[in-house]
Amino acid sequence: MTIQWFPGHMAKARRQVTEKLGLIDIVFELVDARIPASSRNPMIDEIISNKPRLLLLNKADMADPKVTKEWISYFKENGIHALAIDSQAGIGMKQIVTEAKHILQEKFDKMAAKGIRPRAVRALIVGIPNVGKSTLINRLAKKNIAQTGDRPGITKAQQWIKVGKEIELLDTPGILWPKFEDQEVGLKLATTGAIKDTILNLQDIAVYALRFLQENYPISLKERYNLEDIPNEIVELFDEIGKRRGCMMSGGITDYDKVAELVIREIRTEKLGKLTFEKPQDKSED
Ligand code: GDP
Repeated sequence: MTIQWFPGHMAKARRQVTEKLGLIDIVFELVDARIPASSRNPMIDEIISNKPRLLLLNKADMADPKVTKEWISYFKENGIHALAIDSQAGIGMKQIVTEAKHILQEKFDKMAAKGIRPRAVRALIVGIPNVGKSTLINRLAKKNIAQTGDRPGITKAQQWIKVGKEIELLDTPGILWPKFEDQEVGLKLATTGAIKDTILNLQDIAVYALRFLQENYPISLKERYNLEDIPNEIVELFDEIGKRRGCMMSGGITDYDKVAELVIREIRTEKLGKLTFEKPQDKSED
């Protein structure tokens, strides 16, 4: 199920997150480590306002580790606590607890000084669809609580999930919309599978992805498709990949849709290695 983000839905999603903020100490903002900027909600800073936050770069197992490190430093330099995690394998879960406690240390010390009994840190996970919110909740809970996939229409009573003794997590994550007004952001979201292919043209997504690989990961591209040289012309690149992978129509014509589908699928399943589609430097050029 894909959420249709009409203005009314955005307002409702925002309201639902805002309502929960009063119940919690900290927001765990989940983003995709392959697109840490494009997978953020455009209004997140305004929505969560001055609530403490821990930014979690999820799916780090699929991202370029070198660039992930650059992103973590970038966020730290900008005063945002950030961690790289892999919710599917459960990597980084302990650090989430440690870091959350660290961020809230002062607040909890003040509460203790006033004689308030120590309690668990209360947290809410927020993020755009498909970023791994349900997977992370299930990992932290160590059992299946959240249904994976988008369930915007289903509401039920709010429940707290205990994560060890130190964290309590709201069982329903806050689902926010991505920044799809920007064409390039849309292409990145589509390349990583965050939005449905039907929203954008498959060939457009593949052209974007191949150009990106051409420029940033030429060796991976060459090796995967046995290319001696990477043709400059994108059509020729499609032709070369098509020839090698049998994506042809009768009369020896390249089946461009088939090539596009193959390339996108192979990127998403890590056949071209660990890829990150944006760097912190790109942001300053915006
Ligand atoms: P939600 O819509 O934010 O709740 O996202 P889901 O939890 O349903 O996850 C979307 C997809 O991403 C699922 O296929 C998950 O298995 C996958 N996924 C979630 N976290 C990770 C991760 O850290 N690494 C990888 N490789 N896949 C993940």
